[in-house]
Amino acid sequence: MGLPKNKIIIAEINDALDRTLEEFAAINEEDLVDFDNESEQIRTLYDIMNNFGKWRHSTHQCMYKNCSNETIKSHTIQKSEPLLQISENNKVVTPEYSLKKKKLEITAINIKNASVFPGFCIEHERIFDKLEISKDLQNLQNIQLQIYRSISREIFSKQNMIESLEYSKQRYLEIVNRKFERKLVSKLPSYVKIDKSIELKSTKYSRKTYIEDELTREMNNNKFILNNILLPFRDKISKDIKKNKVQNIYITVTNIDIHIPCCLSGIITLSPKKNLNIFMIANVLHYQDQVYIILASYVKYKKWMDLYTDRFHANPFYMLSEIENWMIYHSDHWFLKPSVWDELSNSNKEKIIEQVDSNNQYSGKDLLIFIDLRKDMIKIAEEESKNNISPLLKSILDKEKTKMELFLNE
Ligand SMILES: [Zn+2]
Repeated sequence: MGLPKNKIIIAEINDALDRTLEEFAAINEEDLVDFDNESEQIRTLYDIMNNFGKWRHSTHQCMYKNCSNETIKSHTIQKSEPLLQISENNKVVTPEYSLKKKKLEITAINIKNASVFPGFCIEHERIFDKLEISKDLQNLQNIQLQIYRSISREIFSKQNMIESLEYSKQRYLEIVNRKFERKLVSKLPSYVKIDKSIELKSTKYSRKTYIEDELTREMNNNKFILNNILLPFRDKISKDIKKNKVQNIYITVTNIDIHIPCCLSGIITLSPKKNLNIFMIANVLHYQDQVYIILASYVKYKKWMDLYTDRFHANPFYMLSEIENWMIYHSDHWFLKPSVWDELSNSNKEKIIEQVDSNNQYSGKDLLIFIDLRKDMIKIAEEESKNNISPLLKSILDKEKTKMELFLNE
């Protein structure tokens, strides 16, 4: 008995293909991703997360313009001073995604691993030597270098995110294609044997899916931010550093002697009026005697930035609340003194973590982090003003007390 004639074979394969396509078009989207078992599903998720971490920890090309050397690890926030100042037993707490628990956690890490990223080569890491040696941020150049370092880390993170989304999309398509391939094979006539020697080139299945669309959209969003916001910002601050001037990037520096026990380096968005969102690089750096709050954005936003920081000077409680807002709603690249976190109740911790993890905006409910500091500040303000408390200060203090009460008793 011979094999069927070629024409028949092709007709039968085409029929199998048609039936598979038809069946696939009718499948619910969630059923397109079909893992063999739960452990395979976990392995795939691990693989995607691992890839994200691996990329983050491997060496890359130096970020300095036209440099092709390999990177070494460097700190965004100095280890020797700001991180050390807020550490306990050399530890700080920070938001980190837990692979095991598959969710964001606030975990303790050693300061030697805090804010580390492979951004520059040995030679260009030396640009920051001045910053590393100095125990404060006295001059403009040091402050500009800190901003340059912060924006470089944001660029690195964005590239990491884009790479990871690309990888996730690939893995997703592989899984969908595999399912398609299996369905097709099961429908083929028995005399057609698919093995490793035959490549199923035609099984690229191209039904548009929500997941694929979402991954692509996320990737494009991130690319847009990288190319239109982050990279141009770094160019501008580089120019200012070279000229040792404030020409493109306006900077506000607030230094205070209130010991806010955190460090932050990240992006925050200021929305002073409708349809105006101001992109800013923010740094909160704790040094021995004072805390520096540095904000940087384009010179054209000077007016808005001044208005914003004027409020810090007028009302330190406002400043404290704003830093909490940056940590909870804007940037997850921050480090906190462990005991400050430990003192919060579990339900308050959960609320904060949930908010840091989501991209949701301010919900109207105040989430607080610096409880003891707030209590001390209220006490000092009351003692200093004794019986002569101004109506304005009284209303500020009352508001803070109410906020705390609501938060702590919920
Ligand atoms: Zn370099």
